[in-house]
Amino acid sequence: MNRRFLALSAVLLAACTSLPVGQTAPSSSSVITTTTVVTTTTSTIADTTTTVLSSTPLGLITPTGIPVAVRLVSPDGYIVWSPCGNLTRVTDGEPIYGARVVLDPGHGGNRDIGSQGRNGLPEKVANLRVAFEAQAQLEARGIPTVLTRTADYATTIPVRARLADHLGAEVLVSIHHNGPTPEPSPTPGTEIFYQSFSTESRRLGGVLYEHVVDALSQFSEVRWAKAPDGGVITVLNEDGRDTYGMVRRPRTPAVLLEMGYMSNPSEAELFATVEYVEVAGRAIADAIEAYLSTDAPGTGWYEPGRTFRAAPGLSGAECVETPLE
Ligand SMILES: [Zn+2]
Repeated sequence: MNRRFLALSAVLLAACTSLPVGQTAPSSSSVITTTTVVTTTTSTIADTTTTVLSSTPLGLITPTGIPVAVRLVSPDGYIVWSPCGNLTRVTDGEPIYGARVVLDPGHGGNRDIGSQGRNGLPEKVANLRVAFEAQAQLEARGIPTVLTRTADYATTIPVRARLADHLGAEVLVSIHHNGPTPEPSPTPGTEIFYQSFSTESRRLGGVLYEHVVDALSQFSEVRWAKAPDGGVITVLNEDGRDTYGMVRRPRTPAVLLEMGYMSNPSEAELFATVEYVEVAGRAIADAIEAYLSTDAPGTGWYEPGRTFRAAPGLSGAECVETPLE
């Protein structure tokens, strides 16, 4: 069944239910909840506009495969924000009319590899592999998904956050593998940082935590590590604002997901395997699908949260541009 038919069916069904905003539908597999009404409308807009040639694309996959936000369409191409945040012209590319999900593979390029395993695996590589797998899983389920980074190049945090907002995404997940070395643990030390100002981000974090920890636990041979305050938490600066730019900046409900500890040799060995990438990508896709289509509450919050001042991310001045065409 093609996506347009699904979207139209969803709208017809949504119209039939006629739920006022704020009213929760009774629990039944055949009834669309208020949340679903809103989200299917979004995907319909994304879908139907693909047939209107004069409408303005919100994003673009450039000829070199780089996803960018479109500032405006000009007679000789597109004015886009480059991965380093500069406005530049691109003459051609595959238009993007919206996305329900944006996945952000953390780090990238030579100056920002993230953490690194003792086995030599750079975090930027593991993040990208898991993001590709999760994107493939979501797209296979009819959920339009865009990545903020599609190869080993630099891009700044404001550019990543803007892409999700610009495409009208309902979910933004920044995918990472952690660097510190906490205590040994019988269970995975997955950490999820949610937006202190968003109840939807908090729920997204809880649903992701449930799926990811459950999925990783099947790797029983791994000697896990975990921080005492690990779980689904807020991480705030001394001024009370969210520490991480990928959490603080987006208007889109967003979380930063630390799958586990690249700094723990046993976990780094796991992260280098094909099996891990498949399991991790599927767990993220399952969680996002559950978040979008149900009112699942999630689990795993550690309410005291954490106060921590992080090192600044890659600045625009340090960012080396990658060719767009
Ligand atoms: Zn990272």
